[in-house]
Amino acid sequence: MENRIDRIKKQLHTSSYKLTPQREATVRVLLEHEEAHLSAEDVYLLVKEKSPEIGLATVYRTLELLTELKIVDKINFGDGVSRYDLRKEGADHFHHHLVCIECGAVDEIQEDLLEDVEAIVERDWNFKIKDHRLTFHGICYRCQDKENKKE
Ligand SMILES: [Zn+2]
Ligand SMILES: [Zn+2]
Ligand SMILES: [Zn+2]
Repeated sequence: MENRIDRIKKQLHTSSYKLTPQREATVRVLLEHEEAHLSAEDVYLLVKEKSPEIGLATVYRTLELLTELKIVDKINFGDGVSRYDLRKEGADHFHHHLVCIECGAVDEIQEDLLEDVEAIVERDWNFKIKDHRLTFHGICYRCQDKENKKE
């Protein structure tokens, strides 16, 4: 955790930003809930538990800054809510998401899996790929289990 905070601090410094206590509080919440896909409001409520003096506008500006610096990715699973997702360290491309249409759970796939597709797109469309977003919609293994037990 402290190592990752350090590295994020350096990323901010490289772009001439400081890791102020307000920004650090926001970063800590994101690290503590790494796979939770929190909305700005969710992040704010969690920051507030520890640092009641920090306002929603500050949290929101921090999230925008982190997005701009590509420390965080902003995603939308089609429910109209922007969610913030830490980029995994060392990953060139954004990870994929499995969104369950029954329970709403969001699981992550960390492997890229798209190398072949990327090669085809680059070759046939002459398109230099920098990143991608991939969300699968379906039924998660937990819901499938429940369904099987009913039978
Ligand atoms: Zn994610
Ligand atoms: Zn990729
Ligand atoms: Zn499910």
